[in-house]
Amino acid sequence: MPAHKRILLKLSGEALMGDDAYGINRATIVRMVQEVREVVQLGVEVAVVIGGGNIFRGVAGGSVGMDRATADYMGMLATVMNSLALADTMRQEGMVARVMSAIAIEQVVEPYVRPKALQYLEEGKVVIFAAGTGNPFFTTDTAAALRGAEIGAEIVLKATKVDGIYTADPKKDPEATRYNRISFDEAIIKNLQVLDATAFALCRDQKLPIRVFSIFKPGALKRVVMGDDEGTLVHV
Ligand code: UDP
Repeated sequence: MPAHKRILLKLSGEALMGDDAYGINRATIVRMVQEVREVVQLGVEVAVVIGGGNIFRGVAGGSVGMDRATADYMGMLATVMNSLALADTMRQEGMVARVMSAIAIEQVVEPYVRPKALQYLEEGKVVIFAAGTGNPFFTTDTAAALRGAEIGAEIVLKATKVDGIYTADPKKDPEATRYNRISFDEAIIKNLQVLDATAFALCRDQKLPIRVFSIFKPGALKRVVMGDDEGTLVHV
């Protein structure tokens, strides 16, 4: 029996790059979708928020000298591209996915309407939330926390390149150890970067737990959904 009935999966845009320098790596996206399919087949309702950093990052880089809000809108449009790629890959892998955008772009994808998203989830469709929160100065982490709270997800699963939260950067410090569990309060005291600050505050206020795990470990998503102690759990 899965440990969760409804999850919000946050995928970073960079996770789609594989070993490429930018963009979407075909083999990587297919593998990622197959991981998602495994948990859908368990009967888990899956909503996804995907970032855009593999195509455009407004907050930093790529946008030097640009008006911040304009750069951020470009970043949000990048998430729409990733969402379309993800949904189409899901279609090719025999799944049913719907993309809903926080920015009106109706010829391309339908707008985000909460009751409709809930209906799709109940029907067993994967819902991909595109264009972040629809607002500049935010990130897709915040979109994940926001949508996760809105749809009543039991947990936000943050899939990253690293397999959890460490006491220090494991690439720089060989002594760094991984937390199995950590409370929101402790993560704040230790100044651990789990999600960005806005997203973190939202999850804490809404008592929405977060699990950080590596999407590159085969079967990790399924193990997380089954309640295994994979990665790090941030709890209330
Ligand atoms: N973005 C934004 N508002 C949002 C979500 C995203 O302005 O609600 C912009 C922001 O510029 C961000 C970019 O979209 O840099 C891509 O999102 P993010 O950096 O979260 O993607 P990831 O790092 O997960 O690939």
